[in-house]
Amino acid sequence: MAENVKEKKKIGLSTQIFIALIGGALFGVILHYFIPASSIRDDIIVGGILHVVGQGFIRLMQMLVVPLVFCSLICGSMAIGDTKTLGKVGVKTIVFYLFTTAMAICVALGVAYIINPGIGISLDKVETSEVTVAEATSFVDTLLNIIPKNPISSLANGEMLPIIVFALFIGVMLAKLGKKASTVANFFSQFNEIMMEMTMAVMSVAPIGVFCLIAKTFAGIGFSAFLPMLKYMGSVTFALFLQGFVVYQVLLFIFTRLNPLKFIKKFFPVMMFAFTTATSNATIPLSIDTLEEKMGVSRKISSFTVPLGATINMDGTAIMQGVAVVFIAQVYGYSLTPSDLATVVATATLASIGTAGVPSVGLITLSMVLSSVGLPTEGIALIMGIDRILDMLRTAVNITGDAVCTTIVSHQNGALNKEVFNAQAK
Ligand code: ASP
Repeated sequence: MAENVKEKKKIGLSTQIFIALIGGALFGVILHYFIPASSIRDDIIVGGILHVVGQGFIRLMQMLVVPLVFCSLICGSMAIGDTKTLGKVGVKTIVFYLFTTAMAICVALGVAYIINPGIGISLDKVETSEVTVAEATSFVDTLLNIIPKNPISSLANGEMLPIIVFALFIGVMLAKLGKKASTVANFFSQFNEIMMEMTMAVMSVAPIGVFCLIAKTFAGIGFSAFLPMLKYMGSVTFALFLQGFVVYQVLLFIFTRLNPLKFIKKFFPVMMFAFTTATSNATIPLSIDTLEEKMGVSRKISSFTVPLGATINMDGTAIMQGVAVVFIAQVYGYSLTPSDLATVVATATLASIGTAGVPSVGLITLSMVLSSVGLPTEGIALIMGIDRILDMLRTAVNITGDAVCTTIVSHQNGALNKEVFNAQAK
């Protein structure tokens, strides 16, 4: 039924979102540069309407994340059933995530050393912002926190890894108990259906939400701060582009022989959504949905790998950190040895695991990478002012990495419907 409704509309949802994105950006720039500051512009339009509608939309998406991940993961692991297959999928996914992150940092370091973004920049030319570096969680704690002390509190606080563990556990037990627990199993399956329908319903207002979010961001951004930072921003953007459109697509082709262009076309709306919200976590429902409906990826796999990826796999963030390390080292006149670079690869991979999928956290975990090679953490102040736009770009790459891995793992587990993948993109 939903298909019919979509077909009747002249413009598809993805095109609508794209138009909203461009329109919102233009509207924001006009507000910033051409409308004089006044309480109507600042308090009513930007701080009022755009803020309320934009945040309202993000909250609607966020509202779905925990129940959707929880239910679909239970259903997924129940369908897989045995712990051996689950373990294999888990190990493969984690290895793949770590591998792509390490690769992303190498791409970033390569690009940074070709462009040399920090050379010729004097500290007084760059606008700095106050740095408030929060404590990053230690590696051991990150590991231990995977096991929920109290699953209800993890659900209430949206802690993704403990939720994943608990849901997997329930799913396996339901599979083991079979008929004995069929009422509970049915309950979760039906609840899962409800959450899928809700995702579609919320997405139908996405163009409005996207317009407001983007307009608000651009209304607040002045481009003058960008000028001295253009080389840095260009390096990060170029490395993100390489990772998103070359590295991932080559991997996808090598492992699955699927058409990367088709993948990009079908996944593009999800990338736009991540770009707009700069929040991997809020993108989980849309990503799972798109992978299933358009790419033929079974939810058995995606319900596990997508939330896991949104939590531990941040290749775009790792790229920003790789370039930022080189940039800050060059601005402060430090030279990094090959062993420093190896340390950067290792710590940025770990930092990516510890980075939560919400806006700006990549900057916080950057402090861990900087300290690992003795660079001043105050360096973060140099890039803070212009980070928002890069945050948007890197979030799009973060979630693309999760989707590519999910598609590959599904393919390898016979859980990918190629007919759906190859069908014409709507
Ligand atoms: N905003 C990013 C995400 O949600 C994380 C970051 O790099 O700050 O994936």
